[in-house]
Amino acid sequence: MIDKLKQEIKNKTVVEQLLFLSEKFKDKIVFSTSFGQEDQVITDLILKNNIPIKVFSLDTGRLFEETYKVYNKTLEKYNNKIKIYNPNTEKVEKLLSEKGPYSFYESTENRKECCGIRKVEPLKRALSGNACWITGLRAEQSTARNELEFFEWDENFKIIKFNVLKDWTLADINDYLVKYNVPYNSLHDKGFISIGCSPCTRAIKKGEDIRAGRWWWEDNSKKECGLHETTKTEENLLIIKTSFRIEQAAKEE
Ligand code: SF4
Repeated sequence: MIDKLKQEIKNKTVVEQLLFLSEKFKDKIVFSTSFGQEDQVITDLILKNNIPIKVFSLDTGRLFEETYKVYNKTLEKYNNKIKIYNPNTEKVEKLLSEKGPYSFYESTENRKECCGIRKVEPLKRALSGNACWITGLRAEQSTARNELEFFEWDENFKIIKFNVLKDWTLADINDYLVKYNVPYNSLHDKGFISIGCSPCTRAIKKGEDIRAGRWWWEDNSKKECGLHETTKTEENLLIIKTSFRIEQAAKEE
């Protein structure tokens, strides 16, 4: 199936690829956005061209103010076409009532419990019944370009992932955002790379490991939340991307 798909999208533009897959996986194809810069490009491609792919996001309830701002700007630009998944209310109430608002700082077990409630369970619901999941990963984020494929099988969620921006460079992303006036999260200009929940994400310095910006109080080996298995490809990309952003911000000062 994956090999066939690779052949079928060959020589198609990115819009043609999305259109083709929207027909192939009719009503069973989704795109998850965290409102990061790559995701904003994909959102623009889908919604501007009215491609029938469902766009959704997970609102954990603990996101940055800057993320809510770019989320709102995105709704205004595209006329409110993004489905939001919130955590199960009863589970959040139980967690907060029993352990308070910062239990994730106390142990890895508590942190995984919070991620499970606020991220993993809503994502499972969002992906349920679908066959194809579009992501914003790019090959440039890897030291070996061929580590990332257009199509991958996600064993965790039993779904085909399509990395539609595989061959885009960071310059391509930035050019696209400027050219089409697409809103992006201002935290990217301040050393934030992978932007998740506010209490669990911080800016990192040039050259610092990507994992230093997430759950920094934990041992590196325990850092995972269950949404994506963190691969070397993703880590390398994010380090490159952060260095670029920090250099850019320094030049602008
Ligand atoms: S990243 Fe932090 S606040 Fe967000 S779900 Fe995980 S533990 Fe909870």
